[in-house]
Amino acid sequence: MLQKHNPKNDDIYVHVAGKLVHRDNAKVSVFDSSVQGGDAVWEGLRVYKQGLFCLDRHLDRLFTSAKALMFENIPDRSSIKKAIAETLAKNNMVEGCHIRLTLTRGEKITSGMDPRLNQKGCCLIVLAEWKAPVYDNDGGIKVITSSIRRNAPQFLDSKIHHNNLLNNILAKIQANVAGKDAALMLDEQGFVSELNGTNLFMFKNNILYTPHAHACLPGITRGLVMEIAEELKIPLREKNLSLTEFYTADEVFATGTMGELTPVVEIDGRKIENRSSQRNFEKIHSTFLKIIPGFCEKL
Ligand code: PMP
Repeated sequence: MLQKHNPKNDDIYVHVAGKLVHRDNAKVSVFDSSVQGGDAVWEGLRVYKQGLFCLDRHLDRLFTSAKALMFENIPDRSSIKKAIAETLAKNNMVEGCHIRLTLTRGEKITSGMDPRLNQKGCCLIVLAEWKAPVYDNDGGIKVITSSIRRNAPQFLDSKIHHNNLLNNILAKIQANVAGKDAALMLDEQGFVSELNGTNLFMFKNNILYTPHAHACLPGITRGLVMEIAEELKIPLREKNLSLTEFYTADEVFATGTMGELTPVVEIDGRKIENRSSQRNFEKIHSTFLKIIPGFCEKL
């Protein structure tokens, strides 16, 4: 599914390094670390009419990522919330929006890899756009397995939500070439890790399974689905899962801020056939939709 140009976003204002500017002027320096080395961390957030979904959980992850990368002069939680509030107010955005929140290591005094060249502190970007969830949550998505492996901690810890996204972008290109919606990525041992931009779950015999989070992003939506499963008394197991287990699962679905909860209907040409009489995905999905307001924060 290719996202379409939305003319409502043609005149949005973006918060860049403390200033709100029209999108045409929303730029970072060529000396910025994101340009030089993908040296930045980010979060994707959705805005519902009740407020920003799981805002503090997203900010916790942003701070964790920035700490792991040893950023300096990181803006504090209240100033980030203020920048988000100002951006939404300027654009009259109250619901149906997505925020791409980026924190770069900032501008360097000269080009180079060394973080000691960063002497101006971090650069915060709040990009809010009118955007509905990007996947078809009724019809579902079809995926293929990529030959690109998802980073495990010995390469680059997937728990850092960084802007060095080439690992996932290469996988997504393979899905595009194959005419599918997303790429399924394996870990370094050949077990299923996640899709290129979302986490994966499967049901088999009414037990919910998800891969260990050693080589995938521990998604905030993933965490909520695990909490919902506990609440609904659905047995849940985190385990090494092979492609065969996914091919023969009763139900498979993906989770993430950009698409919420999305059924996966085909993997590598194998249709996901539900042989159980249960529709467990629907139970989880309807509970997820119900609890959204309780997890929203109005700024
Ligand atoms: N996996 C990857 C690789 C992602 O980039 C994302 C979202 N940015 C997710 C999973 C989903 O995470 P979340 O539920 O926190 O949006």
